Amino acid sequence: MFQARSTGGFLLNALGSWVHVDPGPGALVNMMRIGYNLENTDGIVVSHSHPDHYSDAEVAIEGMSRGGWVRNGKLYGTKSVLCGHDGLGPCISGYHQHLAVEKHLLKAGDRVSICGIPTEITATIHSDPCNVGFKFNTGDGIVSYVSDTSYSEEIAKQHEGARILLLPITTPSGNRIEHHLCTDDAYDFIDIVKPELAVFVHMGIVMLRRDADAQAADVEKATGVRTVAGKDLMTLDLDNRVEIGSAPLYKESWNPAWNI
Ligand SMILES: [Zn+2]
Ligand SMILES: [Zn+2]
Repeated sequence: MFQARSTGGFLLNALGSWVHVDPGPGALVNMMRIGYNLENTDGIVVSHSHPDHYSDAEVAIEGMSRGGWVRNGKLYGTKSVLCGHDGLGPCISGYHQHLAVEKHLLKAGDRVSICGIPTEITATIHSDPCNVGFKFNTGDGIVSYVSDTSYSEEIAKQHEGARILLLPITTPSGNRIEHHLCTDDAYDFIDIVKPELAVFVHMGIVMLRRDADAQAADVEKATGVRTVAGKDLMTLDLDNRVEIGSAPLYKESWNPAWNI
């Protein structure tokens, strides 16, 4: 309820596939704002059973399957998301799970192909014990999505080799909350991974009030690693030097994605 900025789900376009990772609150509406046709989605990935990561998963699945008329696409999730675990989840109804033509259960340590993108599934320390992170080997370098976790050296080391580090920094310096990272953790995490670019995602209202851009700049100064605070609809182009942009808003009165 304090998520003034979107949590940090994203669309990944690599090796000819479109993968939608952690479609949280507002994901569907944001896809419409940028004129993205949800039928283009090849796969949907949900890391864990907290609504900031799964709340729009069912509508994203409906988009991938033409409103449920044509079974299509692949669904990847952890045990709490797909089956339920210890009172958590399942987060996606049986009906919606059936709309995907393939369903894959993920756990830390797995090496899987996610719609043709070789991916390492990494461990987290989180209140949903099933939660995982991801190292997507995109063909233009590794994109690491750490997902919600406490900090430990072992957690950080898993992401060595990442070109882009998507780091969920929920709170600012001096405000650590259990099972999440704060800016104090970002210094150590980024120092271990040394990516080309680190992006803060999953920022709560206290982080925004304390000037997330300034916090990222402090971390960049200390680590020497380019570090930015994520913005809604931010784009990252990995072709050469990573280019940061913003997805253009679709201004026409009619979106071709609606021509069904
Ligand atoms: Zn969580
Ligand atoms: Zn979260």
